[in-house]
Amino acid sequence: MKIIMLGAPGAGKGTQAQMIADKYNIPHISTGDIFRANIKNGTELGKKAKEYMDKGLLVPDELTVQLLLDRVANEDCKNGYVLDGFPRTIPQADVLDSELTKLGDKVDYAVNVDVPDENIVHRMSGRRACLKCGATYHIEHIPPKTEGICDKCGSELVLRDDDKPETVQNRLAVYHEQTQPLIEYYDKKNILKTVDGTKDMQEVFSDIVNILNA
Ligand code: ADP
Ligand code: ADP
Ligand code: ZN
Repeated sequence: MKIIMLGAPGAGKGTQAQMIADKYNIPHISTGDIFRANIKNGTELGKKAKEYMDKGLLVPDELTVQLLLDRVANEDCKNGYVLDGFPRTIPQADVLDSELTKLGDKVDYAVNVDVPDENIVHRMSGRRACLKCGATYHIEHIPPKTEGICDKCGSELVLRDDDKPETVQNRLAVYHEQTQPLIEYYDKKNILKTVDGTKDMQEVFSDIVNILNA
């Protein structure tokens, strides 16, 4: 099963993608996590990506598309995957589509996690991220068992630089301009499924499972 997660920054794509990955035993692939790992390791890609990420802008397609195509060509992706944060532009979606078509394959579902802008700043300012394993928490809604420590791997949790309110506003504007058109794009392909992302995490997940199992 090949699934794409759509939704504003902070809508809960990563949270749901990880739950889907665990349930269906497919990899959770987050381009944001891949960039953050590169930043942490001081790679050339990381240095370039950081310039854009810190401003709340998208990393250019030239740096993003090949990275993703290489990742999904990996052996662990042969039974499917859940993409979180890719595609974010129509050109990215077109490349993915044409690569899959070449292989006689396709995306099965584009799950749109719908959360209004009003809720987003609060979601982001309370988000705490594990840069080691990619897990995310929320200080009020989804707290870790021990404050500041990742339940899954024991690493320290951080407030991402790009989750500060000034940057969040930019990211939302970029989302509406460059990423939101993908909702119509996948609707036209008849694979769009929208869920109400304002519900609690488990309810959103059961709505998604009902769609995937239908
Ligand atoms: P969120 O879902 O909270 O917006 P991500 O972790 O998915 O955050 O992405 C963080 C940042 O990484 C984005 O703001 C953008 O700069 C960059 N990024 C991630 N994925 C892509 C992509 N597919 N295309 C361009 N930039 C990306
Ligand atoms: P995205 O990947 O779309 O940027 P995340 O999955 O990282 O979003 O979620 C953003 C923030 O909101 C995190 O702090 C996360 O713990 C929290 N969150 C995720 N889903 C919910 C939910 N259903 N209700 C409340 N908070 C949530
Ligand atoms: Zn962790």
